[in-house]
Amino acid sequence: MQISERIRALGDRAERDMTDIFNDIDRIARINTEHVLDCFRAAEVSESLFAPSTGYGYGDRGRDVIDALAAKIFRGDTGFMRPQLISGTHTITVALFGLLRPGDVMLSLTGIPYDTLLAVIGITGEPGDGSLKDFGVDFDPIPLTDAGEMDYCGLRAKLEAYGSRVKVVHIQRSKGYADRPTLTVAQIRESAGNVRKIAAELGIPAPYVVVDNCYGEFVETEEPLGGETGVDILMGSLIKNPGGGMADIGGYIVGTPRAIELCGYRLTCPGVGLDAGASLGQNRNLLRGLFYAPHTVAQAMKTAHLTAYVFDALGFKVSPAWDKRRSDIIQAVECATGEGLCAFCQGIQAASPIDSHVIPEPYDMPGYPDPVIMAAGAFVGGASIELSADGPMRAPYTAFLQGGLTYESARLGILSAADRISRE
Ligand SMILES: *Cc1c(COP(=O)(O)O)cnc(C)c1O
Repeated sequence: MQISERIRALGDRAERDMTDIFNDIDRIARINTEHVLDCFRAAEVSESLFAPSTGYGYGDRGRDVIDALAAKIFRGDTGFMRPQLISGTHTITVALFGLLRPGDVMLSLTGIPYDTLLAVIGITGEPGDGSLKDFGVDFDPIPLTDAGEMDYCGLRAKLEAYGSRVKVVHIQRSKGYADRPTLTVAQIRESAGNVRKIAAELGIPAPYVVVDNCYGEFVETEEPLGGETGVDILMGSLIKNPGGGMADIGGYIVGTPRAIELCGYRLTCPGVGLDAGASLGQNRNLLRGLFYAPHTVAQAMKTAHLTAYVFDALGFKVSPAWDKRRSDIIQAVECATGEGLCAFCQGIQAASPIDSHVIPEPYDMPGYPDPVIMAAGAFVGGASIELSADGPMRAPYTAFLQGGLTYESARLGILSAADRISRE
């Protein structure tokens, strides 16, 4: 692999300086692994659950146990984790259409949500596409404050203005591709409690608090649900953290009973709900993925810290800083120039297990204003729990990096990217 001695030495120095951080990541992985294993034992997971079902999938015990396991692991009352959820965006769409009805209002406490949700809500796309807006659901985002915190005065004003029309309050944990800090579990719990409290003070029914947990799972020892936190729905994608790099497809939605029932009716149909749905041989992958997830997320976390350290040392602006605590696995690096961003992504690609011979180049993607460059040499198509990086070709040429199935392989990707960019 093309990595200079100087960059290799920088990698070694980074690891020496981050011993305490890496030890803490291992501690979190140990706690989360014990929790997952406790849930497996309580659910009596056994080999017979791997048996595939077809057709309606009636009586698929593996599917039912995985649903219950997902709920338990993420500390919801109930929930489901299914291969019929084809992506994170689809999962969130199922939840929103499950809960919202014509005339309802959806608020967001974290401003404009993740790019792919804009067409779902009806901010982009054509009238008649079938967005929430087409169905008479109004969306009103409450931007984060300048300090990157949720704006409770803004929330109170909107709840007062819309009253009982507000059915959903949406919270996105990860910054996604926005320039803001990721929310911690404690912040999300506090905000959900505040939604309930303000609604009670105003004498209106408590809206469903819905949390997009993408990229956040197993990063901390707690998740936003659990006890009386006030969160109704927690959801995410299985080709990110909770699939552990093992799931080929899928998503999960867990939370409170009525909210989950409604999401189940939207996943299949009213009346059928969660009682049908063939697992098509995916049960084993989903269970193995949950088992691996706390460990895999730890690999990705170490990779993110290493990236921050190495590129900071090379003079690039990084976010978060290498010594900062995190609540998701995303690392941003400002590459300063288009050539730098390309070199970064090409270095990552060159150290990937799949398609390492391919040289990524910027291209026009539907829905994006600028060409985008992506590095992804993954076993599962588009899986971003595997080492991956991408960024739009515009100033400040920020690369967003995430994932890493094994720290040993991902660190080579980072050092390879550092080598290329320092030759620019
Ligand atoms: C990835 C992501 C999504 C969408 O998931 P896809 O699987 O890419 O459709 C939604 N929200 C956040 C915060 C994400 O990171």
